[in-house]
Amino acid sequence: MIAGILLFAGFLLLVRAELGTRATETPTDMMAGGEAMMSARRVVAVVAHPDDAEYWISGTLSLLGKAGARVVLVVASNGEKGPNKVGADNLALARQEEQRAAGRIMGYDEILFLDLPDRSVVQDRDLNRKLTDVLLRENADLVITFDGFKPQMPYLHPDHEALGRVARSAALELATKPALYLFHTRRPNIAVDISSVADAKIAAFAAHRSQHGGDSREGPVKANRAAGARYGLPPAELFRAVRQVMQ
Ligand SMILES: [Zn+2]
Repeated sequence: MIAGILLFAGFLLLVRAELGTRATETPTDMMAGGEAMMSARRVVAVVAHPDDAEYWISGTLSLLGKAGARVVLVVASNGEKGPNKVGADNLALARQEEQRAAGRIMGYDEILFLDLPDRSVVQDRDLNRKLTDVLLRENADLVITFDGFKPQMPYLHPDHEALGRVARSAALELATKPALYLFHTRRPNIAVDISSVADAKIAAFAAHRSQHGGDSREGPVKANRAAGARYGLPPAELFRAVRQVMQ
């Protein structure tokens, strides 16, 4: 009987862990981890589409830049199958321009476009090699990408999953191991307080006019407020550190 109850309780815990976002550290430790992250100096963030960075990690990238890091953003696809609310003749080029405008607002040092087809990013050696080349060229000490193994339900984009998996492999296979932080994760253990750059984040997200029509979009910062509130924290971008930044 008791064994049965324990088994059932264990099952419930497992279901809860699988379905819900669940922090694995205390809020204080999550914030300390976010502060430690700021000692990185050569950052490469790898995303699938224009506006991914602005939605999930632009506050952190901006803060890293202000803390003295070189910040390079790699955008795998131009997102040419997304909405075209500005009626652009060439949506791929329009979205690159929007990404550059957003990057200027958040202070990225460089943006690299890999020009992969939208909704067809696949896990292959070619993508691995391209990402490895960037990481080696930049001598990255911090790599940030999607959590390709535990994407946050219900939204699961195959490009995000594929890219996250390849970028993770590329980072972990390097001889000189960079720190690796995953976003869009169900198991965050790092929180970066983005309060001081929240207004810039809203402006940068709104720069993706072809996707949102250019209205003032607070969506990503609302999500950051909700994420922070969940753990008793200020508005925060959350990450799962696979390998922590060394201070
Ligand atoms: Zn995306």
